[in-house]
Amino acid sequence: MAAAGLAERLSEVRQQLPATTQVLAVSKGQPSERIREAVAAGQRSFGESRLQEAITKQEELADLDGLASPLDWHFIGRLQANKARGVLRQFGTIHSVDSLALAERLARIAAEEALSPAVFFQVKLRPDPSKTGFEPEELRAAWPQLRALAPLRPLGLMTIAPQGLEAAERQALFQDCAHLAAELNLGQLSMGMSGDWREAVAAGSTWLRLGSTLFGHRP
Ligand SMILES: *Cc1c(COP(=O)(O)O)cnc(C)c1O
Repeated sequence: MAAAGLAERLSEVRQQLPATTQVLAVSKGQPSERIREAVAAGQRSFGESRLQEAITKQEELADLDGLASPLDWHFIGRLQANKARGVLRQFGTIHSVDSLALAERLARIAAEEALSPAVFFQVKLRPDPSKTGFEPEELRAAWPQLRALAPLRPLGLMTIAPQGLEAAERQALFQDCAHLAAELNLGQLSMGMSGDWREAVAAGSTWLRLGSTLFGHRP
């Protein structure tokens, strides 16, 4: 990985972003000391994909709760039904709501827990056997129900580009995601990872999910 430190890499990326694009630092697989480093560099939003790993790190970082702007945890991993309550308790934002059944479950438990989580609906815009998500037609069909699932707060759409696409194909995919979000009147787009964030920014991403570009390869 580049010799530059985390703070330099963060500021280098941030300088290239429009004011409407935020960085979610994907800290999965990284120890809490790396999160501390990112916090020292001004980063507050962190993405994790495993509940237990996140709980451990949140406990290790509990001394940061007193910061004027506290840490903001986003869940980005595949969410199993039996983890829904735990994820709702630990995360304010969930990027990976990939079915109507999961959304309904989250809404029911959030109501019980008196929480109103921000959610992104994960969409699958190209065939990809390794990923879940709503296909566009499925999302449109479920939309009347999804949009009414109080107390969830739908922010936007999340997508992951499949491996092996050319840059132009990735950008077209991200643009498709932007058009679908606009059609549903959703303002935010969680798209772009270390290998494709430039195309995602060009297509209007509002949340880049960056892991290895910031932290180096996961240990
Ligand atoms: C791991 C992960 C990322 C970050 O991946 P990098 O390629 O390391 O930037 C982003 N989004 C999701 C859903 C992930 O699981």
